[in-house]
Amino acid sequence: MSGGDKLDFEIRPNPAPVSAADRAALLANPGFGRIFTDHMVTIRYADGKGWYDARVEARAPIPMDPAAAVLHYAQEIFEGLKAYRTADGGVTMFRPEANAARFAASAQRMAMPALPPEAFVDSLHRLIEIDREWIPTDPDGSLYLRPFMFASEVFLGVRPANEYLYVAIASPVGSYFSGGVKPVSVWVSPDYTRAAPGGTGAAKCGGNYAASLVAQAEAIEHGCDQVVFLDAVERRFVDELGGMNVFFVYDDGTVVTPPLTGTILPGITRESVLMLAAEAGKRVEERPVSFADWQEDAASGRLREVFACGTAAVITPIGQVKFPDGEFLIGGGEPGRLTMALRQQLADIQRGNAPDPHGWVTRVL
Ligand SMILES: *Cc1c(COP(=O)(O)O)cnc(C)c1O
Repeated sequence: MSGGDKLDFEIRPNPAPVSAADRAALLANPGFGRIFTDHMVTIRYADGKGWYDARVEARAPIPMDPAAAVLHYAQEIFEGLKAYRTADGGVTMFRPEANAARFAASAQRMAMPALPPEAFVDSLHRLIEIDREWIPTDPDGSLYLRPFMFASEVFLGVRPANEYLYVAIASPVGSYFSGGVKPVSVWVSPDYTRAAPGGTGAAKCGGNYAASLVAQAEAIEHGCDQVVFLDAVERRFVDELGGMNVFFVYDDGTVVTPPLTGTILPGITRESVLMLAAEAGKRVEERPVSFADWQEDAASGRLREVFACGTAAVITPIGQVKFPDGEFLIGGGEPGRLTMALRQQLADIQRGNAPDPHGWVTRVL
């Protein structure tokens, strides 16, 4: 690459794309992360050479040597964001520059080279353009974009790899909640933590998810939908869910979420919710919330609503909390008013149905 951060993408259209009829059948009920579009973006990196061979090509398996570093030491990061169809037939993305910046921050933490943010955003534009027919027309559907990068160098020594592959794929997804928004139940994990101070909690890396799966499985065993992690030092304060940030809404209208101290993933939905709540006149606080206070404030009625947020499900009400010694409800197990209002407001901005004073929405097509 030369002349700044711009990469030229070579476009090699898929010679055998899915037929329109088959695509329509797949889009009728896409689910989440099950079906994929016809293309992918790939960009290679080598030390001394930089980023090169940027391509849009047919989605296909990636040939990999069994000694590729990622398979052994998990040098891998990813992102998740969505493209939406607007009422006027256009296509938008929500805050892709924020994902690009976070991808670069994750790369830095994992000792990987940073893909220039402009190349990251460009790669998504190229992918959406070529696979635009795959964006669901369902008003609750979207095209989930999954950019990721891993160490591809063939080497078993322990050090940062000197070759990487960046890939972006896309998956049409339906409404996260088929049949309306339903509050989820959460399990407060007594045994497992997600991230320790100085660790990788703020990086969006696959390894964090690998470490969370056993706790998530424990949540399912206890009849819950999701796991909530407490801090790794005192096991007292609420960090986040396995893949979503968490918010608390009190009877005086205060909106609280745990602060970004390095163990929590800095969610773009989280940051957007903080801004929207503040603009709605709420007092917003980023401060630690102990599980003891969560229980006590739920019991006294002071705590009115709790919700989780992230790109996949936008905003999800939390209706029930379980832990080894008991369980309790939030808001009688019903979705809260502010939770649902914020959810709607965010969805309206993302889909171009509401003004976008912050310039969060990027028009793709
Ligand atoms: C991606 C992610 C989130 C949510 O981030 P968004 O940018 O809002 O999608 C929250 N927690 C974890 C652990 C994540 O990986």
